[in-house]
Amino acid sequence: MSSKLIHRFHATTGETPVNAYIIESDCGAAVVDATLTVSDGRRLRGCVDRLGKPLLGVIVTHAHPDHYGGLVELVRDLDVPVFATSGVAEVIRRDDAVKETILRPMFGDEWAAERVFPNQTVQDGDVVSLDGLRLRVTDLGPNESPHDSIWTLEDADRHVFSADLVYDRHHCYLADGFHREWLANIARARRELPVGVTLHPGHGEPCGAEALDWQERYIDTFLEAVQTADWSDADDGRQQVIARMLDYLPTSALQFLMELSIDPVADQLGVR
Ligand SMILES: [Zn+2]
Repeated sequence: MSSKLIHRFHATTGETPVNAYIIESDCGAAVVDATLTVSDGRRLRGCVDRLGKPLLGVIVTHAHPDHYGGLVELVRDLDVPVFATSGVAEVIRRDDAVKETILRPMFGDEWAAERVFPNQTVQDGDVVSLDGLRLRVTDLGPNESPHDSIWTLEDADRHVFSADLVYDRHHCYLADGFHREWLANIARARRELPVGVTLHPGHGEPCGAEALDWQERYIDTFLEAVQTADWSDADDGRQQVIARMLDYLPTSALQFLMELSIDPVADQLGVR
């Protein structure tokens, strides 16, 4: 059997820690996700080039810009397939103009002037085969983003590229409003993932299935914090939620994503 190596590429530009993964086989490499910024997309491409093997294809797990913004640099001057479920591909195209208005002021030239989108769509259960690398997609539908998927590396003993189904000890983004679906997907993953699985998450270190429990508690804690805050003063209410979440997870890593989620979730829950 051919050997496969998984390299984690950890991007930090703009204080937005995010992972991409390079899966190296004897004949080439596949990349899962593409980071947010121009600089990190270029660095990721440099890592692929240094392997001295062709880039066979790219997978985009879900419809958030910190996972596809660097795509244009990753595939520059190459003709490679970029795979996503049709749901992920549609949402990325649909939301591109809105993301431009949000991300340009935040990241300036680090948000790519021209974005590249997935060019090959797959459906739930499809296997993408790239010269000996086989990746099977599970379509999660709405989850952490409006459309997510996770990808299992076949023939390589229980490695799953788990997108943002679980974060590893980073604050989380709930502003897209799909926490119910997210919790249901966690329950589904608990039933379906194999014993001894290694999850390769979009943020943080590789982890085991216990990360599902941590993620479920994070979401439940956040919802409870929003529900129980005293919203008679909006700023006070927000500070109470932040304090509760920093108590649950005492790190500032991606804290801004959690803070961005407070108002939308408070509105969604109708608590203020
Ligand atoms: Zn993410």
